[in-house]
Amino acid sequence: FAVHLVLSFFSKLQEDPTKKVDRFMYAMHLHDDQLSDISARFQAEMKKGLSGESNAAAAVKMLPTHVHSTPDGSEKGQFLALDLGGSKFKVLQVKVREGTGVRGGGVEMEEKTYPIPEELLTGSGKELFDHVSESLNDFLHEKKISVEKKHPLAFTFSFPCEQSALNQGLLLNWSKNFRARGVQGKDVVQALRGAVNRTGGMDVEVLAMVNDTVATMMTCGFDDRYCEVGLIVGSGTNACYMEELHHIDLVEGDEGRMCVNTEWGAFGDDGALNDYITEFDREVDAASNNPGKQILEKMVSGMYLGELVRLVVLKMAKLGLLFEGQVSDALRTKGKITTAHVAAMEEYKNGLKNTRNILVDLDLSPTPDDCVAVQRVSTIVSFRSSNLVAAGLAAILTQIRQNRHLRTLRITVGVDGTVYKTHPRYANRLHKVVQLLIPERRQQQRSRSGHSSRTKLASQRRQVDETLSPLR
Ligand code: BGC
Ligand code: MG
Repeated sequence: FAVHLVLSFFSKLQEDPTKKVDRFMYAMHLHDDQLSDISARFQAEMKKGLSGESNAAAAVKMLPTHVHSTPDGSEKGQFLALDLGGSKFKVLQVKVREGTGVRGGGVEMEEKTYPIPEELLTGSGKELFDHVSESLNDFLHEKKISVEKKHPLAFTFSFPCEQSALNQGLLLNWSKNFRARGVQGKDVVQALRGAVNRTGGMDVEVLAMVNDTVATMMTCGFDDRYCEVGLIVGSGTNACYMEELHHIDLVEGDEGRMCVNTEWGAFGDDGALNDYITEFDREVDAASNNPGKQILEKMVSGMYLGELVRLVVLKMAKLGLLFEGQVSDALRTKGKITTAHVAAMEEYKNGLKNTRNILVDLDLSPTPDDCVAVQRVSTIVSFRSSNLVAAGLAAILTQIRQNRHLRTLRITVGVDGTVYKTHPRYANRLHKVVQLLIPERRQQQRSRSGHSSRTKLASQRRQVDETLSPLR
């Protein structure tokens, strides 16, 4: 009995290791009222970007895409597609089946990933586009796609472009890890056409250039007519949605709608998020390819989550709060903790074991408490990411509902991106927080396998349906 007493007394002295992490990282913990505040700020930024008077100075560019409608179920046919700018470069063949009865349409895709050699990301634009075109050529041969007839091609290009038509787009700036020379300010459709001509032997016509958010919305829209928002949480982050044309000052015409590529990754570039930014965000930004740019993206997306975790862990170790003050060269090296590591650390069953292995691989000798603490760091960083995405999404959904003067809105969000798809807890957290920020809603979730389940939540005064894009 005495031994037991002494032991339990002793264990009370040993603090739960997550507590010190929470104290150290309090600035990354966003409360509900802070998230509502961020959401309201983002909605204001959207309006600033849409207005002709303030657009030039707006951080969030709200780019017109010249996509006037989502699929209506009557589409059918085949086309080729290129997907450049995500974590993987892909060539695809897309077949759209016509919807019959209760829709029943949908898309089938055959795809192949082509690696992009590191030096092409930073080399000349010509080399990059030649590689894209040669990969397309390889795909046509491998899939034995006839080169007799002309193939329409859609180019998914995941960077901000100023478009005056669907088949034209000037690159405003690179982001993520791309920075090929001589492309900024140029029409990327022309750049692609030039490369296709240089490669030769292909009869393709580049009909459309779309952002990845738009491609996601459209793909999801082929079998769900309620899909009017596209969201990416991958290497980068961004969202698009169907806006009323009379709100889009940069495009003439007042009737109908157009999809707007928000480029929300740039939220904060004008200081709008300064009171939420931590020393770690500043460090990530300073060491990036594009300092001062894509501030929200650097707090949210896959290119940066691992790095944020590394910087927090490094600082805590230096202060003696982890590993008894031990710091390794690996831990000091940029890029040594990746988003895949973050996802592994937060796995349901093996999370702690994974955390330990990752730390040992970084030449550290963690105690069990260190592992619990580092796992907590990772949770706080990725939780903040899903919270910020939820705040942005809530702003977009509110904007659409207000546009339509509706109290109830039924809408589907098509979602894609490696973080959303591979982090074990991300999707769930995101759904919960959107639910919290737009409380009265009904939620429909469709898993990637296509089964659908419906949960009714609270009253139906404002309905928001979310559907995961099941297609990629
Ligand atoms: C780009 C966006 C893109 C997003 C997701 C950002 O870095 O600026 O155009 O949609 O990444 O890929
Ligand atoms: Mg992508």
